[in-house]
Amino acid sequence: MNAATASIALALVQFCGGLIMAGLFMNMPKEHCTRLWALSGLCGAAGICLMLVGYNHMGDVWNPLALLAGNTGLFSCCLLAWAGLRSFYQRRTGWWPWLLVGFYAFLFSLLLLYQVSFTQRSYLALVALQLTFWLALGEFARGMSGPHAQRYARWSFGRCIGIVSLLIFISTHVARFVLSFSHPELFIPPAMSNIGVALIYLIPLSGSLLFSVSLMMIYFERLLADRQRLATEDQLTGALNRRELVRCGELLLARAVERKSVLALAFIDVDHFKQINDRHGHLAGDRVLAGIGATLAQSCRPGDVLGRYGGEEFCAVFPGVDHDQACQIGQRLLESVRTQRFEHGHPVTISVGLAVLQPGNQRSWDELVHEADLALYRAKNEGRNAYRMAMSFGH
Ligand code: GH3
Ligand code: MG
Ligand code: MG
Repeated sequence: MNAATASIALALVQFCGGLIMAGLFMNMPKEHCTRLWALSGLCGAAGICLMLVGYNHMGDVWNPLALLAGNTGLFSCCLLAWAGLRSFYQRRTGWWPWLLVGFYAFLFSLLLLYQVSFTQRSYLALVALQLTFWLALGEFARGMSGPHAQRYARWSFGRCIGIVSLLIFISTHVARFVLSFSHPELFIPPAMSNIGVALIYLIPLSGSLLFSVSLMMIYFERLLADRQRLATEDQLTGALNRRELVRCGELLLARAVERKSVLALAFIDVDHFKQINDRHGHLAGDRVLAGIGATLAQSCRPGDVLGRYGGEEFCAVFPGVDHDQACQIGQRLLESVRTQRFEHGHPVTISVGLAVLQPGNQRSWDELVHEADLALYRAKNEGRNAYRMAMSFGH
């Protein structure tokens, strides 16, 4: 296959890549980033088509116009991919990138008007594309910042692929830039050398396919993380929902039984919560519940599990915690909520029922919850704002 045929074949693959990206993101949920990435794919596919037309001698008037539109399309494709990345990472962009596209088209048309050589024209494209690669690299490197950051994994496969693909782009462009000074003949179509084909089409093609895949991957990774969170998290309090709490609790309990180790379970109920709702409204009640969820979470270690059992009831599982430590935890939970001031200014208290699995004991999840529940009823009946240990251990 000669260089010209290879370049056409590779450009066609790039065209298909652009169309796939456009089609995929058009069918994704309508978000600013998916729209920008779909448009980027379209611009890339259209740009590469026009470049092919421009280099294949359609006529003296059409060639420069096709080259201008094709080059501007490719530049817009990269800029839009970067803008989409910014939007994905929750950063705003504004309108100035479109001014940049206009400025690029203006400069490129000047070069065509003065009939500068292909090599000299390619310097403009190289510099402009380098700019977009560095911008995109900056976005990938910074990743998600602000309040959303902790919701997602800091490093993901998609993000790493994105960074690698941009490094490929950047290094090939630098190599092309340097070589086009010393050996400009390597890059002049239609008799382009193999090195020229590799640097202009082959390596950037791999880079652009990798880059498109990385955008799809980071989007899917976020989609999956959101889905996972929706399925396992209680929306109001941020604690686990009941299904996930039971799943994790059963897992920890089975492990503790198998290893003959200790484990404590706390059943927590907010005292007189109905009065808070009645006096301050359900919305204020919701905010109090969210605050209590956050406070309880702060009292748990990383290996513990905290979930909302239902209504104003929470449940926490503490692996490796024995009777005495459970009492300390009970006291700590009470104080953490009692000392917090909520928006209505009054202190809020909780009652806690504790049950402990002793080493070598066999207990099911339901049995442990039942014991803790009975202990909680005692705490309620004996005046609230207190913790009680399940009967077998007395308190
Ligand atoms: P006790 O000290 O005996 O537990 O009294 P209590 O008022 O806390 O208990 P009760 O079971 O009588 O009332 C619980 C209240 O919790 C009733 C219900 O409206 C409220 N509640 C349950 N879930 C939510 C919620 O998601 N948001 C709000 N604002 N209130 C809730
Ligand atoms: Mg209750
Ligand atoms: Mg209550």
